[in-house]
Amino acid sequence: MNTELQSFDPATGEEVGRVAVTPIAEIPNIVARAHAAQRAWGELTVEERRDAILPFGADLVAESERIGTILTREMGKPLPQGIGEAKYCGAGLGDTLNELTSALSAERLEDEKVLSHLVFDPFGVCAAITPWNFPLSMPHWALMPALMAGNAVVLKPSEKTPLVADEYVKLLKKHLPTDVVQIIHGDEAQGRALVGADVQLIAFTGSRAAGQNILAEAGKDLKRVILELGGKDPLIVLDDADLDAAAEFAVTNSFRNAGQVCVSTERIYVEEKVANRFEELVREKTAALKVGPGTEEGAQIGPMIDAGQRDHVLAQIDAAKSAGATVLAGGGASTGNFIQPTVLTGVTHDMAVMSEETFGPVVGIQRVSSDEEAITAANDSPYGLGASVFGGDLDRAERVARRLTAGMVGINKGCGGASGSPWVGARQSGYGYHSGREGHRQFAQVRVVSRMK
Ligand code: NAD
Repeated sequence: MNTELQSFDPATGEEVGRVAVTPIAEIPNIVARAHAAQRAWGELTVEERRDAILPFGADLVAESERIGTILTREMGKPLPQGIGEAKYCGAGLGDTLNELTSALSAERLEDEKVLSHLVFDPFGVCAAITPWNFPLSMPHWALMPALMAGNAVVLKPSEKTPLVADEYVKLLKKHLPTDVVQIIHGDEAQGRALVGADVQLIAFTGSRAAGQNILAEAGKDLKRVILELGGKDPLIVLDDADLDAAAEFAVTNSFRNAGQVCVSTERIYVEEKVANRFEELVREKTAALKVGPGTEEGAQIGPMIDAGQRDHVLAQIDAAKSAGATVLAGGGASTGNFIQPTVLTGVTHDMAVMSEETFGPVVGIQRVSSDEEAITAANDSPYGLGASVFGGDLDRAERVARRLTAGMVGINKGCGGASGSPWVGARQSGYGYHSGREGHRQFAQVRVVSRMK
């Protein structure tokens, strides 16, 4: 790799900026500095850590327009979403920190004879390795619990979005002792070196393939890992569903962030009885979407992150068409890194578009003849991140939802849970999880300290 990492605007190909690549040989020294800084940080109470970090939220909100603009230029998503990502993390920080404080405070347990306290201690140094699709919120969801648990953190953001990560860390560092948070730049090589360094916890969000590799490497020293991986989320449309709402959800959730979302709807199973009407609604709503650069007024669908991702998506569309899929919308028209949102019908699980993560503005619709067939098809995947079921009879929809092998299932909605819920993938979509009381606690070593009463 070069000594500099260039960041390109995926909408125009222009350079947005560049950062220095961290030499591999430097990484052990960076981690050693993190250990030195962690000692005092880890000795603070969780409330003291909360109070130190809290003002960062207001900083992030105040800077959200500037940072969100960098995010959009670097990653491509519509500007309101870029700014919204920064604002959301900043504005919600108080609640996030309070939830973390409660989860990481000692918990008292007792029976007739023994009094115990569960205490939550830092592991040491946490390696946070993050992707480009939510280039600010992904680092945020790793750093906040890791820091609150008393760890020091070395962040390795995606090589495709280094600038926004740099801005995030610069703001955060103002509130922390030196070296409690550090950032390194580079690609997989720097990521591998960080995993192999003297870190005790690896919080990774990214692809299944990289996750497998990290788990294998970390296993050599039994390092703790939290892996948030890819998905191939299904949507089931039952024959009593509100079809307009189901189609609206399908289009929004398949094409948000140009489909570059881990919990995008990528497969739809619709019951025969309502399939014609549902497909027509999806076609109409898809045709109304506006594709364009994230900085353009009203643009809803931005570009693919780069040419490699564009080619991967187009190859899946072409292969599906060659194998007999019908194009309901889009179908592979592209300009630069932009792809017209595409809906395919007549798809099967033999096609990559229905079995491998697409991570683009493409969704396949398959007709099914019963709830049972829908469940079997939805579960026919190595992934298990999110899923949704749309249906009018909530008991029936709930019965279907409970049989889906996903970590998060939404009924007549997306997969996210009420506040305090974990963000969790089943099967090969995750290993460990974050958020919610139990998720927060995965960033800490729980110890049980007991005495006789
Ligand atoms: P990626 O796996 O290619 O890269 C993610 C990060 O890992 C990057 O910083 C990269 O440099 C680094 N990396 C790659 N290989 C590594 C290795 N062997 N060791 C250490 N570091 C390594 O993923 P991406 O293309 O940046 O992101 C897209 C993927 O992320 C999709 O699969 C998406 O579903 C997933 N994702 C999952 C969630 C979730 O919450 N489950 C959220 C967002 C994205």
